[in-house]
Amino acid sequence: MDALPIAERSGLPFASEIPDVMHACGHDAHVAMLLGAATMLQARRAELHGQVVLLFQPAEEGPGGAAPMIAEGALENPRVECAAMLHVDVRLTTGTIGVTPGPVNASADEFTLRILGRGGHGAYPHTGVDAIVAASAVVSALQSIVSREIDPLASAVVTIGTISGGYRNNALADEVVMTGTLRAHDPAIRDALAARVERIARSVAEGYGARAQLELRRGYPPVVNDLALVRTFAPVLAREAGVKVVEAPPTMGGEDFAYFAQEVPGLLMRLGVRNEAIGAVRSGHSAEFILDEAALAHGVDALVAFALTFGAAASIAEEKRNR
Ligand SMILES: [Zn+2]
Ligand SMILES: [Zn+2]
Repeated sequence: MDALPIAERSGLPFASEIPDVMHACGHDAHVAMLLGAATMLQARRAELHGQVVLLFQPAEEGPGGAAPMIAEGALENPRVECAAMLHVDVRLTTGTIGVTPGPVNASADEFTLRILGRGGHGAYPHTGVDAIVAASAVVSALQSIVSREIDPLASAVVTIGTISGGYRNNALADEVVMTGTLRAHDPAIRDALAARVERIARSVAEGYGARAQLELRRGYPPVVNDLALVRTFAPVLAREAGVKVVEAPPTMGGEDFAYFAQEVPGLLMRLGVRNEAIGAVRSGHSAEFILDEAALAHGVDALVAFALTFGAAASIAEEKRNR
């Protein structure tokens, strides 16, 4: 479930047996922990006052499993009232869980930007419109969006990841194609980024006699942790999962749990799996990625604690309403 196209070099006895495919982000550990939580919750069934839904969400690496799961009714029957998830994090040591109030992951939108000029002979540049020169100016101008148009205390990313165009050394390029990613924690800034990329690309290209075409593909929304859930659950988490709860800084990474957290109060927890003694220090998406399996028990305890805490709280709220 949800592997990456990377040839595994972890050296583990249970390393991937499929060439060029591995669990480099720890999603196999996530499945193991949720199965562990299922077993524990069955054993502690009597303590549950509500129902618990276990969401084995696939395709977080893309195109995303959360949105189709919601469309198919994953949050209905029983109606889900709040949701939590764990993701392993090799920056945090085993025995810690990171919980961030408010925005924790960024939106991740992709774009393709075409700069259209007019081709010609490289020795007679005045006879054409050089798309490479126009594109260079566009790339430079786009850097001013984050530095000059976004509140310095907010967070935003405009990255051009690829650029290609042209034919050979002595021909004018008639087209340059770029692809990139736009990221933000605030939905208003997210929308502003796309609009500003388009405006700057159009007007700068026009200044060079070229044209710009922007194609935007909306990706995952930002993940925003519910403040009340964080406040209520952080002390329970420390006690029940035997971990140190730390306020991990938000990141500009994307995570499609965002769709669940848009529908119901949500909580994304980062499970520390770093252990230098066993070499569990390489980041996810690396061929040498391994995690400290001692952390799995903490993860299971965290998921069980969430279910027991809010299973009860939800039923109490319902009881009050019915009175
Ligand atoms: Zn992941
Ligand atoms: Zn990943």
